[in-house]
Amino acid sequence: RELSLKERSLSGTATTRDGVEVAIRANIELAREVPDVFEYGADGVGLFRSEFLYLSSAGVEFPDEATQAAIYRQVVSRLAPRPVVIRTYDLGGKKGARHLSGAEENPVLGLRGVRLCFSHPEMFRTQLRALLSVASGGDLRILVPMVAGVEEVRRVRAFVEEARQELVERGIDVPDSVPIGAMIEVPSAAVTADLIAPEVDFLSLGTNDLIQYTLAADRANEAVSEIYRPQHPAILRLIARVQDAARAAGKPLAICGEMAADPALFLLLLGLGIREFSMGPRSVPLLKDVARCASAADAARMARAALSLSTPDDVSALLAREAEALLSGDPETRAAVNV
Ligand code: PEP
Ligand code: MG
Repeated sequence: RELSLKERSLSGTATTRDGVEVAIRANIELAREVPDVFEYGADGVGLFRSEFLYLSSAGVEFPDEATQAAIYRQVVSRLAPRPVVIRTYDLGGKKGARHLSGAEENPVLGLRGVRLCFSHPEMFRTQLRALLSVASGGDLRILVPMVAGVEEVRRVRAFVEEARQELVERGIDVPDSVPIGAMIEVPSAAVTADLIAPEVDFLSLGTNDLIQYTLAADRANEAVSEIYRPQHPAILRLIARVQDAARAAGKPLAICGEMAADPALFLLLLGLGIREFSMGPRSVPLLKDVARCASAADAARMARAALSLSTPDDVSALLAREAEALLSGDPETRAAVNV
C-alpha cells in the first residue's frame, strides 16, 4: 500500500534524494499544540512563541515563575528527546503590552522583543529562571528575538548566568550548557551575523520580520504587500550571508519564518544551505515530502542562479520554472505543491 503524505512524514527525518538530512520542526504558540507536533510528524519544536502565555491571558498578568516552569516543563519533557526551541518574550511592537512599553509613536521600531526585556529586567529574569529550571528534562534551547547586534547577545548571556546562579543557590539542577540562540530578523543582525555567530550556540532566521525591516514594508499592510517579497534580491543576499557566517563559525542555522512553508521557497532555502526549518505544524508533512523528492545539489544550482537575478519577479519566474523539474520524481508531491 502507498503511504499517504502524512504517514510518510511521520516516518522520521527527511533525507533528500542525494542524502542530505533536513529537520522540519513546528512553530507553536501554546502548549496545547503539542499533540499537533506529533500528529504532523514534526522533528520537535523550532519556535515556541512564549509571549502567547501572556497574550492568551487577555494581557492581564504575567504568569509567575512556577506557572511558567510548569508549562515549559510539560512541552520540553513531552517532546524529549526532540529539541524544543523556546523564544523569550517577543512583546511590544504590535503584540500588546502597552503598559510595559508605554505609548510609542512607532512601536514596531520601539521597545520590542529583547529590548523590552532589558527594560523590564525582573520580567526577563523570571522567564529565564523558569526556562533554565526545566532544561534538564529534555533538549531545551533558548532563542532571543529582535537581536540587533552582538552587544545584546552579551547582555543576554549575563542575564542567563545570573539566573543560573540563583537557581544553583536554590539547589536546582541546571545543565552546564543550555544552548542560547539569536533570531536573525533585524537587518543589522543579518549584516553582522559573522560577529554574532561565534557568541551564540545557534541562529534562527526570522524572515517574517527580516523582510519587513529590510524592505521597509509592514508585514501586515495590504497596501505594501507587493513590496513585501521574500524573493527580493536583498533578502536572498542576506540569507546567503547569514548562512556563510553560521558555517564559518560552525553554528547551526535554522529558519522559522513563514517563507519556509512555501515549497518553491523551501527549495531555494535548501539550495542556500539551510538544513533546519520550522513552520506551522500542518505544513510539515508536505514540506517533508518536498525535501525527500528534492536533490540538494540541484537546489544549490537553482539558488546560485537566483542570487544572480535583479528583481523579485525574475526570482519568482526562475523558481516557478525550476521547482517543477526539481520535484520531477514524485507526481503526488508535484500535485500537492501545485507546480
Ligand atoms: C519571524 O519574524 O520570522 C518570526 C518567526 O517571528 P514572528 O513571526 O513571531 O515575529
Ligand atoms: Mg519575528
